[in-house]
Amino acid sequence: SIAVELEAVTKRYAETTAVDAVSLAVREGEFFTLVGPSGCGKTTTLRLVAGFESPTDGAVRFRDEDVTGVPPEDRDVGVVFQNYALFPHMTVGENVAYGLNFADPPGGVSDDRRVRELLELVDLEGMADREPDRLSGGQQQRVAIARALAPGPDVLLLDEPMSALDAQLRERLRMQVKAIQQELDITTIYVTHDQEEALAISDRVAVMRDGTPEQVGPPREIYRRP
Ligand code: ADP
Ligand code: ADP
Repeated sequence: SIAVELEAVTKRYAETTAVDAVSLAVREGEFFTLVGPSGCGKTTTLRLVAGFESPTDGAVRFRDEDVTGVPPEDRDVGVVFQNYALFPHMTVGENVAYGLNFADPPGGVSDDRRVRELLELVDLEGMADREPDRLSGGQQQRVAIARALAPGPDVLLLDEPMSALDAQLRERLRMQVKAIQQELDITTIYVTHDQEEALAISDRVAVMRDGTPEQVGPPREIYRRP
């Protein structure tokens, strides 16, 4: 069944149409990737799903519920950005525990067991007392993923989470992200400009161009058009 649906969604800024009448349906448990060159509307599409932006036109639905206009904190999403936004004055464990505040009902900073489970999930067991800026970029990004997953969202949204990493770390984090997604079977929407990455990691890919998907399908069906 369908987890996230965009119906004829348009987002305009002044003279720019960032997202142009996009209709997409992301299935439950699917790893779905928006790929395309810079400026094609990937981030804006993800922000519309997260609720950081409201469409100029069209509707966003989660399962069958219309969430257009519902603020991000009331959508069941966890979001990870390009530049990991960890709190530097908090330990790794405290950063993850912070995410529990967004659970419904809220968890607490004292919820040590849940934090341990989340750190284990992202392959950082035993790191709860570390300071974030002592970790590698890939480790920091995994802390951000654990924090995003803490409230138990239905949907995980990832915006170029690897882009600040070197090629080797990127490859490693890619496999880790895929493993986390499969372990939780969580609906995931992923944004990247890297075609190779998109094809390696995704169940289905939307190739975007000028604010609209020009191809949508599983990796084996993409890029085979003459
Ligand atoms: P991508 O993520 O594929 O690089 P974006 O969604 O960031 O693309 O941007 C799509 C287009 O919309 C670009 O032309 C960008 O400059 C424009 N855009 C995005 N956000 C804004 C904004 N807040 N104000 C004005 N223009 C924007
Ligand atoms: P990405 O690199 O993921 O495409 P950007 O760096 O283009 O993202 O955009 C980062 C932020 O700046 C986003 O919140 C986006 O909405 C905003 N933004 C992008 N383009 C513009 C623009 N032309 N004018 C104003 N804000 C923009």
